[in-house]
Amino acid sequence: MTTFAQLGLSPARLHTLEALGFEMPTPIQAKAIPIALAGTDVIGCAQTGTGKTAAFVLPMLERLNLREAHSALILAPTRELALQIHSELQRLAGSKEPLSVVLIGGVPLGPQISAIRRGLPVIIATPGRLVDHLQQRTVKLHSVHTLVLDEADRMLDMGFAPQLEKVLGLLPRQRQSMLFSATLSNDVTRFAQRHMHAPISVGVAPSGTTAAKVHQRVIGMKDDMKLPLLAKMVSEEPGKVLVFVRTRGRADKFAKKLGRLGENVGQLHSDRSQGQRKTALDAFRSGHGRVLVATDLAARGIDVTDIALVVNADVPRNPEDYVHRIGRTARAETTGTAITFVGGEERSLWIPIERLIRQRLPMEKVDETDPVLKSMIARFAVADAHKVHTSTTPKHSHPGGGAGGQRAGQSFGARSSFRPRGRR
Ligand code: ADP
Ligand code: MG
Repeated sequence: MTTFAQLGLSPARLHTLEALGFEMPTPIQAKAIPIALAGTDVIGCAQTGTGKTAAFVLPMLERLNLREAHSALILAPTRELALQIHSELQRLAGSKEPLSVVLIGGVPLGPQISAIRRGLPVIIATPGRLVDHLQQRTVKLHSVHTLVLDEADRMLDMGFAPQLEKVLGLLPRQRQSMLFSATLSNDVTRFAQRHMHAPISVGVAPSGTTAAKVHQRVIGMKDDMKLPLLAKMVSEEPGKVLVFVRTRGRADKFAKKLGRLGENVGQLHSDRSQGQRKTALDAFRSGHGRVLVATDLAARGIDVTDIALVVNADVPRNPEDYVHRIGRTARAETTGTAITFVGGEERSLWIPIERLIRQRLPMEKVDETDPVLKSMIARFAVADAHKVHTSTTPKHSHPGGGAGGQRAGQSFGARSSFRPRGRR
């Protein structure tokens, strides 16, 4: 076993790590840190939750000149991830003085411009906002000699390639580049070939390796069974539950409906303001709200260590998202469960996932005789009927309808005629 001391870190750094309770380097840290300390370009690939942040932050801190403005640049796909890197950097530096300016979207440019002028050593940015600053000439990148691309696969998937090209074109050629990713797609490899100098790849797990300790289950079902079954699972799981859905609209709907169970249910998706996202994430992290409903883009980089259950209420369209999603559970020392709901028309989305993870999971069926599930079905059906009754002004009176809007037969009829609107 390798220790942090054997990796060549300074005594001050070792002291901070000890204070933080980091006893042993993770495998990706053990491999990447010595190479990065030597100033060589590194490509690090390892599954989520394996400590990739420290793998680049620790060598960067060793090589950083704290008096030099903007000497390192870290790019990350989402605001949340950028903020997490910022706090991990502060923690690992053991410093109260801020080391980095964070340039992310969704907040005004003004305060960021003032922060840039302070000339801190590190810039942490999302590609879109950094390009905004470059266009306004509020930031310059000529002094950057260390570049980190975190979650590079994700940045490319999100369509940030043009912004990345622009940013990288402005950096000095003499620099160290580090690229980290949970998966190594062809796009990432090609991008690395173009922009890095003789990089050494480490920890290359086969793309699609799932976190070893996640217990994975998959259940086939009719679409209208998803919500009641999810409600049953939430009510039976005492720990933290992270739910993934396909769209913002569905995140909103699922969160509101689960909220009727008396849970404080957060939402994380791109229709929410930066403040709302932070509140939801903080509540989830602290355990104040133990259920969070998210879309893929927003959920990237959530670092919550004790998620007991991940439910994919919709099958991800991009198979690699599956790996990212279930990597949210079983981080660090815990084990977790990931359950995927495969709806009527989602079978064809599940097949490429099995191919990617190189596993065949038995497709379970829903036990519709389960009493808790039955009560959830009844609960949501009644609630929906009530909603239809109170929230619509019928244009046409139903034959024999009158005031009987809450009668089961009629409200189910009304509900199914509503369904196409709820979907998107
Ligand atoms: P990744 O980027 O690979 O998904 P992170 O860098 O977010 O993983 O790390 C996941 C968690 O593990 C963080 O809370 C981090 O502080 C913690 N961690 C990282 N390295 C170690 C270590 N060597 N010992 C203990 N905890 C660690
Ligand atoms: Mg990470």
